[in-house]
Amino acid sequence: MRIAIVKESSASEPRVAASADTVKRYIGLGAAVFVASGAGSASGIGDGEYEGAGATVVADNAAAVAGADIVLAVRRPEAAALKGANKGALVIAIADPHGHEAALGEIAGTGVSLFAMELMPRITRAQVMDVLSSQANLAGYRAVIDASSEFGRAFPMMMTAAGTVPAARVFIMGAGVAGLQAIATARRLGAVVSATDVRPAAKEQVESLGAKFIAVEDEEFKQAETSGGYAKAMSAEYQAKQAALTASHIAKQDIVITTALIPGRPAPKLVSADMVASMKPGSVIIDLAVERGGNVAGAVPGEVVTTANGVKIVGHLNVPGRLAATASQLYAKNLYAFVETLVDKGSKALSVKWDDELVKATLLTKDGAVVHPGFAPQESAPAPAPAAEGASAA
Ligand code: NAD
Repeated sequence: MRIAIVKESSASEPRVAASADTVKRYIGLGAAVFVASGAGSASGIGDGEYEGAGATVVADNAAAVAGADIVLAVRRPEAAALKGANKGALVIAIADPHGHEAALGEIAGTGVSLFAMELMPRITRAQVMDVLSSQANLAGYRAVIDASSEFGRAFPMMMTAAGTVPAARVFIMGAGVAGLQAIATARRLGAVVSATDVRPAAKEQVESLGAKFIAVEDEEFKQAETSGGYAKAMSAEYQAKQAALTASHIAKQDIVITTALIPGRPAPKLVSADMVASMKPGSVIIDLAVERGGNVAGAVPGEVVTTANGVKIVGHLNVPGRLAATASQLYAKNLYAFVETLVDKGSKALSVKWDDELVKATLLTKDGAVVHPGFAPQESAPAPAPAAEGASAA
C-alpha cells in the first residue's frame, strides 16, 4: 500500500496533508509513504522530518504519485497530476466540488476515487475527521489575532498611572465553530464581547463563553436550525428586523468579526455600507465569509480595504492557512482518522467499504464517473435510492 503526500500546486496554499506523526501512523498501518520534496516546508515540516518519520522523500509530485494507492492533498489536485497513480487509487482532499463539475469530470476520467473531506457527515463517529471544524476553529482564533494587529488600540482594559485604557468592544456575527472560538479568543484578550446568531442553540453557547447574546428571538428564530444543525436562509422580514437590531450595536463596536454561512448558498449579507459608515475611524471588520460571497458590504477577497471613514475591512483568504503549521497538524490527523477506516488492519491492505455512510457521503468519483448524487451529471446519475436522501451536498 503506497501513500503519496503531494506538494500543493497553489502558491496560496501553505498547508500540507501529512505531519511526521501521521506518516509514522501510516507506516504502522502497513503503508510505504512517499512525500514530494518541499511538501511541508510552508508548514514548517522539512523533508528531513518526514524522512525521520520513515517516509521516502522524492523529487516532485509525479514521483510521489507514481504507483500510489492513496494520494493525500489539501486541495483537489489537477487531473493531470494523478495520471501515474494506480488504477482505482483513492485521492483524498478538500475537493471543493460546488461549481467545479468540469474538473470533477476530468478527475473521474483518470479512474481514481476522489473523496471530499468537507462532505464528511457531522456525526459522532466522524468528529475526528471533521475538517470543517478543525479548520474553522483556527480561522476563528486567527480572525481575532488579525483584528488585534490591524487595530491601533489595546484589547484589555488597562488602568495605568498614565490613564485608563478602555476594553475593546468586539461583536461576533455567526456563532458556529469559528464564531465560538473567536468569542473565546477575544475574551482571553480582555475584550468586551457580544455575539449574534439565528440558531437558538447558539444562545447558551455564547453565554457560556461569557459573551452577551444579541438576536431577534421571534418565532422564525425558534425554527432557524435545520435537522443537520445548520442555519436556514432567513426571510426578508427577519433580515430587516435583524439589521434594525444590529445597526445601533455595530455603531458602538471597535471590532466586528463575521462568520455567518448557510450551506449551499451565498453568505448572508449582515453588515451594510451604512453600518460600516456608522463605525468609528480605526475600527476593524474581519469578514471570514469573504470566500463565499461575504457578510460585509465592501469586503474584497484577499484585501484589506480602508473606507472613507477610516474603517478597515479585512478579507483575508484561506485564514486557516495563516496558521499553516497548526492547521496542517490538525488536517493531517483528520485525514489519518478517515484513511484508517479504509484499511484492513489484518491484511494491511486497502479495503474500502463502499456502503459505509462516511464513504458514500464523501465519494465524488469512482470507476471513471462522477458518482456523488449532488454532483453527478443528470444522465449518468445513479437512480435515486431512498438511502441517498439527505446525502446531497447542500
Ligand atoms: P456554518 O459555518 O455553516 O455557519 C456559521 C454560523 O453562521 C452558524 O452558527 C450559523 O447559524 C450562522 N448564521 C447563518 N446565517 C446567519 C445569519 N443570517 N445571522 C447570523 N448568523 C448566521 O456553521 P458551523 O460553524 O459549521 O456550525 C454549524 C453547527 O454545526 C453548529 O451548531 C455546530 O455546533 C455544529 N457542529 C456539530 C458538529 C458535530 O456534531 N460533529 C461538528 C461541528 C459543528
